[in-house]
Amino acid sequence: MSLFSPYICSMQVEQFLKNYINGELVEPLSGQYIDNVEPATGKVYANIPSSDAKDVESAVQAAEQAFPLWSNVGVKARSEVMLKIAAGIKKYQKELAAAESMDNGKPVALAELIDIPRAHDNIHFFATAIEHFASESHHMENLAINYTLRRPIGMVGCISPWNLPLYLFTWKIAPALAAGNCVIAKPSEVTPLTAYLFSKICIEAGLPKGVLNIVHGLGPIAGQAIVEHEKIKAVSFTGGTKTGEHIARTAAPMFKKLSLELGGKNPNIIFDDADLANAVATSVKASFSNQGQICLCGSRIYIQESLYNEFRDKFISAVAKLKVGDPKENDTNIGAVVSQAHFEKVLNHIEIAKEEGGQVLIGGQALKGEGRCADGYFIAPTVIEGLQPNCLTNQDEIFGPVVTLNKFKTEEEVLALANNTKYGLSATIFTNDLKRAHRVAENIDAGIVWVNTWLLRDLRTPFGGVKNSGVGREGGFEALRFFTEPKNVCIKY
Ligand code: NDP
Repeated sequence: MSLFSPYICSMQVEQFLKNYINGELVEPLSGQYIDNVEPATGKVYANIPSSDAKDVESAVQAAEQAFPLWSNVGVKARSEVMLKIAAGIKKYQKELAAAESMDNGKPVALAELIDIPRAHDNIHFFATAIEHFASESHHMENLAINYTLRRPIGMVGCISPWNLPLYLFTWKIAPALAAGNCVIAKPSEVTPLTAYLFSKICIEAGLPKGVLNIVHGLGPIAGQAIVEHEKIKAVSFTGGTKTGEHIARTAAPMFKKLSLELGGKNPNIIFDDADLANAVATSVKASFSNQGQICLCGSRIYIQESLYNEFRDKFISAVAKLKVGDPKENDTNIGAVVSQAHFEKVLNHIEIAKEEGGQVLIGGQALKGEGRCADGYFIAPTVIEGLQPNCLTNQDEIFGPVVTLNKFKTEEEVLALANNTKYGLSATIFTNDLKRAHRVAENIDAGIVWVNTWLLRDLRTPFGGVKNSGVGREGGFEALRFFTEPKNVCIKY
């Protein structure tokens, strides 16, 4: 395997994006394309391949040919080429951040600060983690020794959503590649751009052909073809709970390994002994970062009764200072939501909240952008109070800049309220009482709990949800275990 490539990629965004199959940028076999819209302007700026089962088939054939080399080349060689890919992300970080912002509607400052550095870190982390990944051995005294081999699975599918496009795309493919698998990946058709640029970075880095194949297109066509393909033995999916259910139904009878990272309706709990300034500032971030389109956003805020009014007033005045506007401007806090369909869905949820008796304290409407953003999908950050725990607004994942404020009296009460949804992804607790922090963290239905902080991530830790928020864990060695098949070997003395 040559780790040297004379190719220097161009980060220019062409009108027609291409699939990345067998090491080359290729057109979809059908010749069909889908419009790609910039959320901040509402205008089409590129077209993406509308791939189908035939494109997925050629990706699988390429991956199958690449697998013997990639799986046997050795950890060091895989790590080296992945480190080159990570270096490529760093080299083109400005271009990638601009592309992510244009494609998704998020502020460019956020893409520069979070999305692109994290995409780099994902690749870098797993490129080095694989060198520390060890398998188990079990000694039966005076009788035998067992050791576990962990071999790559083969061809695996990685399907990612639109909210953190390159961040979540690389979070899946990095452990899959590091463990020696060949990957057929599909980014969301709503935000394909950075995955396309990433394929150019892989070519520049000298990733051997067929090791990673990126097929663009619609979920029910291209995504479905990946999930259904008999030679793809594992699927790692992040997206909505409904899509996750459908994928599980398709893949389970084929006995595929599945990792499902799904939706959330996360509680954000503020006890009356909390550091109020931190609780307010962190809750604003947890509510509205990325226009509220992060699966970990805390969309149900519970405040202990004695602190309720003070928290509410300070929270509203902080929200009033957020600048909604052109994602290209560096001082923008809130950009456009990702698509017209999503814009309408979020506004509809705000109407439902009003019908349910909610009082809108701030926001509650679409905003008209200025200049080039006149037709963009902007929604004012919205805070609602006075709703019942079981109403749709407090139960459904809205996935937009909308949060509810809710009162509670006791720890027992707030635990019951927090656990009163079908989801269980993450939870945030604000308190200075250490014993209470431990108690609540232990009893809350969530895969991830933050105390006095939010979205502080160590890539070694297990990541994922309980209940309808998913099955399996990503992150650290959990992800490398998912992407390998254990085999026990028992040797008698
Ligand atoms: P979707 O479930 O609509 O889509 C996710 C991905 O699946 C997309 O690439 C989509 O393609 C694809 N897809 C759709 N239908 C199928 C199918 N039948 N077979 C295979 N693939 C398919 O989610 P969104 O993109 O709307 O993302 C938002 C959701 O993701 C939210 O619910 C959010 O909570 C969740 N999420 C969860 C995270 C977690 O870690 N738990 C992290 C981030 C988001 P296409 O876009 O073309 O439809």
